[in-house]
Amino acid sequence: MNPFDLTGRVAMVTGANTGLGQSLAIALARAGADIVTVARRDAGETAAAVEAAGRRCLQLTADLSKMDGLPGLVADTLAHFGQLDILVNNAGIIRRADAVDFTEADWDDVIDTNLKSVFFLSQAAARHMLERRSGKIINIASMLSFQGGIRVPSYTASKSGVAGLTKLLANEWAGKGINVNAIAPGYFATNNTEALRADENRNRDILARIPAGRWGEPDDLGGAAVFLASRAADYVQGHILAVDGGWLAR
Ligand code: NAP
Repeated sequence: MNPFDLTGRVAMVTGANTGLGQSLAIALARAGADIVTVARRDAGETAAAVEAAGRRCLQLTADLSKMDGLPGLVADTLAHFGQLDILVNNAGIIRRADAVDFTEADWDDVIDTNLKSVFFLSQAAARHMLERRSGKIINIASMLSFQGGIRVPSYTASKSGVAGLTKLLANEWAGKGINVNAIAPGYFATNNTEALRADENRNRDILARIPAGRWGEPDDLGGAAVFLASRAADYVQGHILAVDGGWLAR
């Protein structure tokens, strides 16, 4: 028996149309899981890759900054697949401005999408998972779950919050069959980091600090997600797994 095999599991991935979410969905499909993509725009490219891996894909549309649609995502998944085994809370946004100029809208938008919806979608999924005493929840944290960052106050607050929430939910649900863990990506080349990579000085400083000597590519993250979603991680709880090319070790 391959402890990393996800055959017969159903995994929901938020923000699965692009970037890390797309890569995570495809990695879980290649490990055997059927996939539910949650995105506010078309996730057809991801669905095609999931189906090319021989798995089924259900595409759901939602604006994750609004809480009222979250329970419906779980209900639609259950109506289609009859179960939900894995939830990857990946969708997230970032806003950059000096703290002294930061607006309330940039605070609320980021906190709602990156933190509030992570909690309420996890809650909706857990109501199903607790009944079955089985489930894996994987939150996408950040280096700013550990560090302060600069010019991203709501993002740092949200990702530090995700780390705390991961531990709280693990404390409540570990004895009830649900594993809650997080992956903290280092610096990955996606839309989220476009502004950093476009800034010559920031790009140079970041690269100089990464022991691996390069930005992460979305495919670098899949193995960690497959592990945390699998039986191999049954006794792993409340952990924040850095996949960062060594950034935090520096
Ligand atoms: P990305 O390419 O910008 O992808 C973000 C995803 O979240 C997109 O699918 C986006 O949809 C979706 N999303 C944002 N707001 C949404 C909303 N209100 N409703 C539904 N979907 C929404 O960035 P990424 O780098 O892949 O980010 C994925 C996760 O990794 C985020 O939580 C991010 O904070 C985290 N992360 C990234 C890095 C990095 O270096 N890239 C490092 C640490 C953590 P649209 O395409 O419609 O915008």
